[in-house]
Amino acid sequence: MNKPPHVHTKPTRKEAEEAVRTLIAFTGDTPGRSGLTNTPDRVVRAFAEHYKGYDEDPAHFLQTTFDEISGYNNIVLLRDIPFYSHCEHHMAPFLGVAHIAYLPSHYVVGISKLARVVEMYAKRLQIQEKMTAQIAQAIETHLKPLGVAVMIEATHHCMLGRGVTKTGAQLITAHYTGVFQTDLAKQAEIRTLFLK
Ligand SMILES: [Zn+2]
Repeated sequence: MNKPPHVHTKPTRKEAEEAVRTLIAFTGDTPGRSGLTNTPDRVVRAFAEHYKGYDEDPAHFLQTTFDEISGYNNIVLLRDIPFYSHCEHHMAPFLGVAHIAYLPSHYVVGISKLARVVEMYAKRLQIQEKMTAQIAQAIETHLKPLGVAVMIEATHHCMLGRGVTKTGAQLITAHYTGVFQTDLAKQAEIRTLFLK
């Protein structure tokens, strides 16, 4: 059976710190000098934080749903969920906001859980397009709504630092399922709500 691509034998913390020392030496600096003594430890701890999403599963926090919605049949929308991720091509930060909307059929979920879904996928090596689709699919799978819409607006540091683009350029991605995919009037409505 094929393993998921992210499952490998994990190097030890010591090995990871050694790799940071190698990268420091590659810059031309001296890993042993006093200002850099604790840097490998800090970098490895930052990595543990930035990439903690690999150990999480959306099923854990999307399984607690509420089904007493008393006939509520309108859009549930959470805007401007901040996130901080890293692009898988350069391991450079990309950050911005995610907007999530869904049209419930039977279940709704706590607001914080929607933010957790974003956080979980952001804390991995990502590309924005994939992250947008993954968030939508997780909600689709666990809430079985009539439709999900996800939009992400983000700035990519790998572009800022390399002289290619102007500061402030934003990449906008969107993923629609169910009624938001098939009903173009609904899709237009949700875009307006996301982008206002
Ligand atoms: Zn990049």
